[in-house]
Amino acid sequence: MTFALVLLLVLAAAFALAWWLERARRIRTEGRHMQELDEQRVHREAELREQTQRTVALFDRMIEGLIVVDAGGRIRLANRAAGELFAFTPPATGRTILEATRHHEVSAMVSRLEREPEILGHELRLETVGAPKFLQVNALALRDSAGGRDGAILVLHDLTRLRQLEAVRQEFVANVSHELRTPLSLIKSAAETLLDGGKEDPAALTRFLQIIDKHANRLTLLIDDLLMLSTLDSGNVRLNLQPVSLRAAVQEVTDDLKARAGTRGVTLENAVPTGLIAQADPDRLRQVLSNLLDNAIKYGRVGGHATVGAHLLESGRVEVAIRDDGPGIPADACARIFERFYRADKARSREQGGTGLGLAIVKHVVQAHGGEVRVESTPGAGAAFIFTLTMAKA
Ligand code: ADP
Repeated sequence: MTFALVLLLVLAAAFALAWWLERARRIRTEGRHMQELDEQRVHREAELREQTQRTVALFDRMIEGLIVVDAGGRIRLANRAAGELFAFTPPATGRTILEATRHHEVSAMVSRLEREPEILGHELRLETVGAPKFLQVNALALRDSAGGRDGAILVLHDLTRLRQLEAVRQEFVANVSHELRTPLSLIKSAAETLLDGGKEDPAALTRFLQIIDKHANRLTLLIDDLLMLSTLDSGNVRLNLQPVSLRAAVQEVTDDLKARAGTRGVTLENAVPTGLIAQADPDRLRQVLSNLLDNAIKYGRVGGHATVGAHLLESGRVEVAIRDDGPGIPADACARIFERFYRADKARSREQGGTGLGLAIVKHVVQAHGGEVRVESTPGAGAAFIFTLTMAKA
């Protein structure tokens, strides 16, 4: 009886011990498992953070603005370009689209995407300090794997530069048409007068033929200048750079223009020292000098002086200046004088047969040589057009 009891107790103790050992083992295994899960979670979170950072960095390099919103219309992610367009600090996570962009049309687009799958090519005008900005927005509704609404993605293209270029192009076409129409209508009315019987009168015949000749020449000059600008704009100008003696180049141009200067009693002076050798395309350089000297003759004083000088700058470049002692140019006109078709004195330019493109060509050619051009003038005391060139290597 006692033996049986002892055996029972021993068995119970062994069973209890085995149970306790098994429980301890299970707790240890579970602990290890929990620790592994915890490590995996930390690892996954770090991976996700890194992936998000990589995505944000990638989006931030995009030229287009990008905004991703959740189903409640709150921003999940916005890139740098979007922040710049709407003047908010990205990623703006958690803010509503209206809070971030302060633009009702953008917010309305996000609401529309609750009903429509996409909105393409929507154009927006942003009123900003200074000039307005123009955007094109393409937006897409996002769906989760179960097909439920999961917010939207908006891609914003800045069209402002394109619009500005378009406006410049339209203005240019309008200007060209206007410039072509004036001489054409004068040629046409002179021809009509002759056809209507004017040709019977020898004096009228000569006068009207001279008008036709003058305005046909003006058209030729205009078309030459337009073609030149178009070539310069296309970037296809291959400069034939070589060492050019500045004094010799100026002399050639002053010789060519001597007769023209004579008609206005203007004295041309070549004050360029010998020995200044620029690295330039000789034909283009002659064109720059010719345009500037021709202007000095046309717009300078009747019986005045036009002088071309040059000197070396400390930078090692050479500066060439064409000065006249005419009426000069008002300060507000100086700021715009290199623009196409801009004229300080419209009547004078037309009367002198100017195309309004000479200085635009000068600026283009000088810049193509890596130089700069500017105007200095004190009204009443003449004007000076100054440009820089690189010196040829000795
Ligand atoms: P244009 O064919 O009319 O001469 P430019 O581009 O050469 O065109 O010159 C633009 C305008 O700048 C001229 O219409 C004229 O009003 C002004 N201008 C240019 N050079 C001078 C100058 N030396 N003195 C005064 N005005 C000048």
